[in-house]
Amino acid sequence: MSGVFLTLNAGSSSVKFAIFDSNDPSTTPQIRGKIAGIGGTPVFSARKSNGVALDAGALSSLDVLSDHETLIGQLLPWLAAQYGKQPLLAVGHRVVHGGQNFTAPTLISPIVLQQLEALVPLAPLHQPHNIAAIRAIAKGQPDIPQIACFDTSFHRSQDRLAQLFALPRALTDEGVIRYGFHGLSYDYIASVLPEYLGEHASGRVIVAHLGNGSSMCAMKDRQSVSTSMGFTALDGLMMGRRCGALDPGVVLYLMQAKGMDAAEIETLLYRKSGLLGVSGISNDMQVLQTSDAPQAHEAIDLFCFRAAGNLAGLLPSIGGIDALVFTAGIGENSALVRKLICQRLDWLGIAIDDAENNENAITISAQHSTAKVLVIPTNEEAVVARACRDLLT
Ligand code: ADP
Repeated sequence: MSGVFLTLNAGSSSVKFAIFDSNDPSTTPQIRGKIAGIGGTPVFSARKSNGVALDAGALSSLDVLSDHETLIGQLLPWLAAQYGKQPLLAVGHRVVHGGQNFTAPTLISPIVLQQLEALVPLAPLHQPHNIAAIRAIAKGQPDIPQIACFDTSFHRSQDRLAQLFALPRALTDEGVIRYGFHGLSYDYIASVLPEYLGEHASGRVIVAHLGNGSSMCAMKDRQSVSTSMGFTALDGLMMGRRCGALDPGVVLYLMQAKGMDAAEIETLLYRKSGLLGVSGISNDMQVLQTSDAPQAHEAIDLFCFRAAGNLAGLLPSIGGIDALVFTAGIGENSALVRKLICQRLDWLGIAIDDAENNENAITISAQHSTAKVLVIPTNEEAVVARACRDLLT
């Protein structure tokens, strides 16, 4: 049966949505949009695949301080008007945490929803918004199948060693392990790698997902072998507002010497650090790149220094590198960041072609580079839409 799939990605301050033709879920959605500014003044916007902006209608003024569930409830009639005569066949959700057991997209039942709620302590800042989105659909469209696609699932292929912290065994047993995130983005890149690398797609590939949140994943046979994010999405690379890997002694210092409580430390590490904290100017790479302030340059340099170091740290798990893929907002668009990272990898034989890099070309490695360097746009929604198709059939 033909119709549409709706994908929802409920983040801390936004809900992003996309509508896919059920016969063609792997490509560009028919419509893409979002409600941003949740928690303050929500702002709706949506575009067709050809870039034309769509009329917000009743969503042009949304109540200040509305929560995710309320806003998604208000979004549903607008979406229904867009589907027209095409039936809505399923709603797919990006869900941040699937714990150790959800290793693939899953049809949501009342029992699954309970299991997702039990995982809230592992992702208290994100999982509740994903659950709110599921509840809003269950309320507004109770007969529509809902499917959860997890950011952690892609990494469950990793060996046990790659998932362990050097902590007492009892903590490991209760689930304090390295879960890894950005799995939908890595899943998408893994799925399209053969188009770019042919048979080499199954070689040693590192994907650098560089956006507001940033991480890297080392793959072999297009499966995750190791990744830079750990128990939470705070670990690994420096990010827009998050610190990335940090000596845990700093957290003890903040508590013991500065008397900060958990909530204050959480705000510091998740919201006030990273590019924003180091530059004191912005969390936005594009803004920093146009700034003359030395602090902005230092923030960009640190971002790239740390990214190159993280990449080097992933190499032993796959025994070298055949291809490096840049993706997400910064990875796809910032020639400067790609160049600064690759310069720090020249000891590995990685070299880029400046002209191709400046053009955001697909292949940016120089002829003599020992590893191919590619720029591939990610498409997390397509992974969710495909999961809807696969689970329905
Ligand atoms: P999110 O993790 O929220 O999905 P994105 O993947 O959209 O984030 O990435 C957002 C980041 O990408 C921002 O730091 C933004 O400045 C950066 N970015 C987008 N376009 C450019 C560009 N042309 N040059 C440099 N950075 C860019």
